[in-house]
Amino acid sequence: MKRCDVAVVGAGPAGSRVARLLAERGFRVALIEEHSEVGRPVHCTGLVSARTLSLLGRVQMLNKVSGVRAFPPEGKPLEIVAHEPKAAIIDRAACDAMLAQEAVEKGAEMMLGKKATEITINESRARIKCHPEGELDARLVIGADGISSAVRRAMGAAPPAELLPAVTAEIPIPVEWRRDLVDIYVGRKVAPGFFAWAVPADKVLRVGLASNPGTQQLALLERLIKKRFGDAPRLSLNAGAIPIGLTERAHGLRSLLVGDAAGHVKPLSGGGIYLGLTCAGLCADAAERALNSDKLSEKGLAGYTRACKREIGKELSRSLKMRKLFVSLTDEDMRVALDLLRPADVVAAVALHGDIDFPSRLAKPVLHRAPGLMRFSPKLLKALL
Ligand SMILES: Cc1cc2nc3c(=O)[nH]c(=O)nc-3n(C[C@H](O)[C@H](O)[C@H](O)COP(=O)(O)OP(=O)(O)OC[C@H]3O[C@@H](n4cnc5c(N)ncnc54)[C@H](O)[C@@H]3O)c2cc1C
Repeated sequence: MKRCDVAVVGAGPAGSRVARLLAERGFRVALIEEHSEVGRPVHCTGLVSARTLSLLGRVQMLNKVSGVRAFPPEGKPLEIVAHEPKAAIIDRAACDAMLAQEAVEKGAEMMLGKKATEITINESRARIKCHPEGELDARLVIGADGISSAVRRAMGAAPPAELLPAVTAEIPIPVEWRRDLVDIYVGRKVAPGFFAWAVPADKVLRVGLASNPGTQQLALLERLIKKRFGDAPRLSLNAGAIPIGLTERAHGLRSLLVGDAAGHVKPLSGGGIYLGLTCAGLCADAAERALNSDKLSEKGLAGYTRACKREIGKELSRSLKMRKLFVSLTDEDMRVALDLLRPADVVAAVALHGDIDFPSRLAKPVLHRAPGLMRFSPKLLKALL
């Protein structure tokens, strides 16, 4: 059986980053990934902020976008374009591979094609059995293993409050497509409980949606593609899911959670790369402190959950309020709400203050200019002012 200081389960962006940070601080780190290739299959659209790009380093950028077209269930879209790029589209598979490679370069041992199937944690060790083979004995296990985290189950921690199934397809980018814009489609018949999107990468358009569990995501996606893009061929088709809400705790005895496993995801957009990378930094700091002082009890690691809440909790709780309001809107409400956003001063405020990592920061400037929006939930919206 191999021994190490830290076993990181999952080589997504959060896991690879935490593995790299701990390896470069001198810990013996094993990075366990169930797939034989890091980064595949890809279910992510790869839309990230400039802030995320700087955390990622030398990642390959495929396109930049500076605005959005929001399509109500019926009627004309609302177009909002900023003067400068607001987000970039990256090659997600290459990004994950690069982050994992950086971890290896810093000394982490990569265990590819190994699925952590049995995780037992006790006062003295964390033991991870892998399929098809391999067994690890670690002082600390970090669950960066995504939505169905096995580490989370072993810790006995509850999953995030909601898990929204999502599907995504790539189609050839239409010739007339505005490559500087992202499309958002809302409506209860389009994507109940969330929204659909079309994002231009370099040669392809990434079309996807998430919706309430129990709805037919694939049929909804097919319908959207047919309506907007006719008989465009599907170049790829993938499924995933978006966790909504932080897990109550991201720590346990000799264990920490990071990324999707801990619900480090923006509830309004489903974007998780930025928050996963941010919390990976906090996770590495917490792990380093605990390993150095040998304080690996649940109590000893509790500061990590608090640190994540301090760093991202406020934005997440404001975004959850906005999501609560969004899901309560009928199709007619959505149409009216988009109409209230059409005046030039509101559009200008959204273009200026819009930030995909901190969407709740839009609430104040928008509500001041479009007070008519208050009618949808005065109590909830007042809390955002
Ligand atoms: C359709 C869709 C579109 C999205 N688009 C965007 C976007 O445009 N921008 C954005 O910021 N976010 C987006 N997201 C969210 C983003 O993909 C996730 O938040 C992000 O991947 C989370 O990173 P992570 O490292 O926590 O987990 P993951 O990237 O899910 O990585 C977890 C890794 O753990 C591995 N694993 C799981 N279980 C085990 C096990 N038992 N043993 C070994 N390995 C295991 C998996 O194979 C995987 O490689 C999207 C999500 C979906 C579903």
